[in-house]
Amino acid sequence: MDHDLAVAWLRATAAAVEQRHQELTELDAAIGDGDHGTNLRRGFAAVTGLLDELDPAAPPGSVLTRAGTTLISKVGGASGPLYGSALRAAGTALPAPTADMMDLAQALRAGLTALQKLGGAAVGDKTMVDAFEPAVAALERAAFDGFTLREASALAAEAAEAGARATIPLEARKGRASYLGRRSIDHQDPGATSTALLFAALAEVSSP
Ligand code: ADP
Ligand code: MG
Ligand code: MG
Repeated sequence: MDHDLAVAWLRATAAAVEQRHQELTELDAAIGDGDHGTNLRRGFAAVTGLLDELDPAAPPGSVLTRAGTTLISKVGGASGPLYGSALRAAGTALPAPTADMMDLAQALRAGLTALQKLGGAAVGDKTMVDAFEPAVAALERAAFDGFTLREASALAAEAAEAGARATIPLEARKGRASYLGRRSIDHQDPGATSTALLFAALAEVSSP
């Protein structure tokens, strides 16, 4: 990953959020407070504005770190600090002008660790972690097996999507949805769904 790919990833994520914000908000209306799409739309619109002003010589990590800071400051909901901390930690782990597959997998693992430290959620708690963890694990396996970013990110996107779908039968144990107890069952988690968009965007920009 280099500067241009980091920028392209965030732009593709912003475009996906713009396109799917209603669906994210509807999922959040069912088990939360109905603002997840609105929250991310506001946050990624601000990120897009930031990308237009970045120094083209900035390493990919600083692109992610600054986007993370923007999400923390612009998104009122839980998802802003969670995604923001993940991007900031991932960005901090990518100081060089270019990162290989293993660097990227390790950086996103650091991002997930920061997200989990802040939110206290584990896999199975029906949160964004349920999509993020399998995606990072897929990237790590693919990096270990010597796959290209294009192949690895396609596997990560599939794993995130499967992880998001697997939240449907779960009872939420973190975040607002946990207030519903068993009534959170049979709904897909909005944050896991937006995490699937994030990894789908990476796959999209990594394809030739
Ligand atoms: P809020 O719940 O503050 O309105 P959002 O609606 O933007 O924030 O985001 C809700 C999503 O955030 C949930 O669907 C879930 O995936 C994620 N989330 C909430 N709390 C946590 C947590 N403690 N750890 C991980 N993810 C969480
Ligand atoms: Mg909400
Ligand atoms: Mg809210």
